[in-house]
Amino acid sequence: MSQTILAELEILKQEVLACRRCRLRDGCQQVVFGEGRPGRLVIGEGPGAEEDRQGRPFVGAAGQLLDKILASGGFDRQVNAYIANVVKCRPPSNRVPTAQECATCLRHLEAQIKILKPKIVLLLGATALQAVLKTPQGITRLRGKWQERDGIYYMPTFHPAALLRDPRRKIDVWHDIQLLVAKYREVVDPNHTSPFC
Ligand code: SF4
Repeated sequence: MSQTILAELEILKQEVLACRRCRLRDGCQQVVFGEGRPGRLVIGEGPGAEEDRQGRPFVGAAGQLLDKILASGGFDRQVNAYIANVVKCRPPSNRVPTAQECATCLRHLEAQIKILKPKIVLLLGATALQAVLKTPQGITRLRGKWQERDGIYYMPTFHPAALLRDPRRKIDVWHDIQLLVAKYREVVDPNHTSPFC
């Protein structure tokens, strides 16, 4: 990661850590900014209990599954994936963040996108899909279909937490990861290798 990107991310991180724009900050232990490396951006909904405790995104059971999903496509959050959420503070009892909370926090995610300049973004679940692409359409309808906005390719797919609840959906995510790998080779790295596709 270039020093410029690192410096810009650090400035933004300090702003976000001090944010109190919505009531979610009152109920969480800490703000979860996001982490990883440029290359591909992965966006989830918001921190859960373990993420809130550790201050890192996707470190609970869903996070472990996400790591396996990324690995199946030859991706690693320490090497070529950056992971962030739509809301940076944990909603109480892990409820879905409201549309208003998402809209309030979105400025931070949009600033991250502006700094990271990803060519490919994986949107995990309906909250990420609807907040980032500003669409009312559901994840079941749009998953597996590329959405291009301002030169960035967005792939909506199911959230890993949904796969934990309903493993039958894993086959759909596997399909989406194959599309992701193909697009990654097309627009980022033609020599990208993955263990399964
Ligand atoms: S959820 Fe986002 S907007 Fe709300 S306080 Fe946390 S960082 Fe700020």
